[in-house]
Amino acid sequence: MGDRMANYEKLTEELIRELAEICGGGNIITNRDAMQDYARDESPHAEIRFPEVVVKPEDTMTVSRILSLATRYIIPVTPRGAGTGLSGGCIPLFGGIVLSLENMNRIISIDGENFTAVTEPGVPMANLCTEIESRGLYYPLYPGEMTATIGGTVSTNAGGMNAVRYGVTRNNILGLEAVLPNGDIINTGGEYVKSSTGYDLTQLIAGSEGTLAVITKVILKLTTKPPKREVLFAPFSSLQDAIDSVPEILHLRMIPAGLEFMERRIISIIEGYLEREIPYPEFDAFLMIIMDGDSEDDIHEYFVTVGEICKKHGAAEALVPGSERAKRRLLEAREIFYHAIKRYAPMELIDTVVPRSRIPDFVRQVKEISARHGITVIIYGHAGDGNVHLHPLCENMSEEVWKEKLPSLLKDIFQAAISFGGAISGEHGIGIEKKPYLPIQIDEPLLTVMKRVKQAFDPENILNPGKIFDI
Ligand SMILES: Cc1cc2nc3c(=O)[nH]c(=O)nc-3n(C[C@H](O)[C@H](O)[C@H](O)COP(=O)(O)OP(=O)(O)OC[C@H]3O[C@@H](n4cnc5c(N)ncnc54)[C@H](O)[C@@H]3O)c2cc1C
Repeated sequence: MGDRMANYEKLTEELIRELAEICGGGNIITNRDAMQDYARDESPHAEIRFPEVVVKPEDTMTVSRILSLATRYIIPVTPRGAGTGLSGGCIPLFGGIVLSLENMNRIISIDGENFTAVTEPGVPMANLCTEIESRGLYYPLYPGEMTATIGGTVSTNAGGMNAVRYGVTRNNILGLEAVLPNGDIINTGGEYVKSSTGYDLTQLIAGSEGTLAVITKVILKLTTKPPKREVLFAPFSSLQDAIDSVPEILHLRMIPAGLEFMERRIISIIEGYLEREIPYPEFDAFLMIIMDGDSEDDIHEYFVTVGEICKKHGAAEALVPGSERAKRRLLEAREIFYHAIKRYAPMELIDTVVPRSRIPDFVRQVKEISARHGITVIIYGHAGDGNVHLHPLCENMSEEVWKEKLPSLLKDIFQAAISFGGAISGEHGIGIEKKPYLPIQIDEPLLTVMKRVKQAFDPENILNPGKIFDI
């Protein structure tokens, strides 16, 4: 935390009154108890920090007036969606204003001719997708937590389980309306699919974790809703065999929506959490392949070939659930990994990404690192896009000792990912949690450019300070 951070002004009663006038009295919280939920996110270890005030603007002009006041008086502002982030991104490190987008929750338009939708940032993903799908259209982003807002997913460039076929958030947005820290409103991109008109600020703001601008509208790129989704589940004797099947599966003409891998250990934790057995208790690793298609027959034809590939690599079975209920149960089991592990033991969460052909080497190295540090690491993830999720667990030692040992384990894991050509975070972002490790990947010239970009957008450093890197 540099000296610059000590220089923020506190919100006086007069400024709070001014904010209340700007937002409307019902859209401001100053009571500490009522601010509990705005002091944290879903990251396992991030500190709890209270803001001085929470504001909940209902339109873009109000966001603009809040930000220009904050720049004028040098007050830190932390944008917030639903607070489901996993890196501490929406925690107000320096107090000040939490700017919650929860009241900007209208879907403005859905255009079936141009395959676009325009939405305010506070719409929860579940509502957005239901509304879009009710028109026969599809927004394919599926981050594991569908209470997340669309603005939050753009700001973290969320990925999730559909990324192999449909890409991540960045690949599915066409433009933004955003408010700069000085209150200026900018519009980037539009409801068109091509543009070579100046710098692409849509892509710069996406993934910037609320450090450059507050997103007040998002233009989405839609597709048609695939009529069918099926799942194949294959048990293997080793994680290595499971992962070895992946490149061949991805070479097939059809591309799965998702291709997930997991170890027995996570399955056992899920069984405990759900209080029911998952088949094949004797196997060590599993692949789950999620496929969208025009008909069950098309998908089953594809699954025959995938099954043969899996069996060639040692799978005992290639199981396609026979009923909608069984399929739903399998997908749901995958969706609750995070909550199940969190309840099982104190844990940390890492979402490194490596080129997908390097997953086996990386996983092997993580196991060596885990043994060397004496800390169990649960491994699963999106095999189809190289995004490996790792959960160091606190087992067989006190939490105090575990927490002391953790930074050195994390450093070794990040170094390993980077040595295989990977990156620290594939989808959750850097926030506060991974900030100490950023220099392992980002060298000085690149960091300098990033800092200059930040300065061009936010010369007073009021917007989400202390996230990603220190100024
Ligand atoms: C159980 C669980 C599973 C998850 N699975 C996945 C997964 O598979 N893939 C994945 O990618 N993520 C996953 N996540 C993480 C999380 O859902 C995403 O990071 C999501 O994008 C956060 O959205 P949010 O609205 O909760 O944002 P918040 O947590 O509120 O904020 C996240 C960041 O975005 C900024 N921000 C929010 N709104 C705006 C805005 N309008 N303008 C500017 N900045 C803004 C905040 O300042 C912060 O830096 C999971 C989380 C949980 C709890």
